Amino acid sequence: MSKTWRPATQLVHGGTLRSQYGETSEAIYLTQGFVYDTSEAAEARFKGETDGFIYARYGSPTNDMFEKRMCMLEGAEDARATASGMAAVTAAILCQLKSGDHIVAARALFGSCRWVVETLAPKYGIECTLIDGRDLANWEKAITAKTKVFFLESPTNPTLEVVDISGVAKLANQIGAKVVVDNVFATPLFQKPLELGAHIVVYSATKHIDGQGRCLGGVVLSDKEWIDENLHDYFRHTGPAMSPFNAWTLLKGIETLPLRVRQQTENAAKIADFLAEQSKVAKVIYPGRKDHPQADIIARQMTGGSTLVCFELKGGKEAAFALQNALDIVKISNNLGDSKSLITHPATTTHKNLTEEARAELGISPGTVRLSAGIEDTDDLIEDFAKALAKVSA
Ligand SMILES: *Cc1c(COP(=O)(O)O)cnc(C)c1O
Repeated sequence: MSKTWRPATQLVHGGTLRSQYGETSEAIYLTQGFVYDTSEAAEARFKGETDGFIYARYGSPTNDMFEKRMCMLEGAEDARATASGMAAVTAAILCQLKSGDHIVAARALFGSCRWVVETLAPKYGIECTLIDGRDLANWEKAITAKTKVFFLESPTNPTLEVVDISGVAKLANQIGAKVVVDNVFATPLFQKPLELGAHIVVYSATKHIDGQGRCLGGVVLSDKEWIDENLHDYFRHTGPAMSPFNAWTLLKGIETLPLRVRQQTENAAKIADFLAEQSKVAKVIYPGRKDHPQADIIARQMTGGSTLVCFELKGGKEAAFALQNALDIVKISNNLGDSKSLITHPATTTHKNLTEEARAELGISPGTVRLSAGIEDTDDLIEDFAKALAKVSA
């Protein structure tokens, strides 16, 4: 296993544990437990004197391959695979905090992530301050003597705003706090939060890593010391472990991650440029375009655009619904990162639980639409949009 492999190679070969049969494809080890040759061997395993698996809630071979492959891609020392992205986010945040601690989070968060820090954490005496994460001064102002964790997504859902990750990391290091980055929208290919100074990275593997709409999954990555001291026991005893079947599905998904993300990004960029020229479209936000309001930060911290495009229709909700209903290839779905192009109207779906004001704060208007570009033929997708836009009244 070589650390110098480039991502496309790591994602096909990294972490592979071949059994005595020499199988080409990774094996699925669907087992809850493991047997020991002797009582002494069991004792040694439990004492941590010998390597090996004990119980699938703690770890198992197929999950281990997935975790190792993710570590290589991310440049992380260690990882834990979880049953869903939300299990990863919840574990990453709660495992390191206690009553009295304080979180500062950028308010533009995936709905369930926002619930974890805004509603769940305070029930256990962990307070959270939500800020507009685009301005570093807001992070600094929100710091208290109790601040232990900074939490952010970048780019954000659905308006694709970005947060200056290295700027936030510098502030965190001054007070000994940890930065947790939900890197789903950037994908592990286009943004490396650990290199930018973040301490913990989380993914919903449900999105681009599976990328084919099959299973849920998540992963938490960090340095070995942080995982040993914070996540290790929490993970063993609260049980967010991923099913080995899903770990296998995700291992197969991850092999084609660069191919899919490259095609999705190319499609997203071309659709963004097409939409920007249409008279019924008020604005397009796309991290790969020069007119993105934070293009300078994007140039510093990302190596690619995005598989997502956010745009606003002049005709509000009525126009957004008409467009979505008239699309043929592009499907209406709140999921993202899939090989199928998916479109959603955030105000009535993913962000319906926020108040009108909270949505406005995030830049979500009744005409806002989010596209997750798939891997279909670019021209077919553009023709689908052209045909559907023609049916939207001006
Ligand atoms: C989907 C998503 C999650 C939650 O992941 P699940 O796998 O659905 O639990 C968290 N954060 C972001 C940014 C997401 O897109």
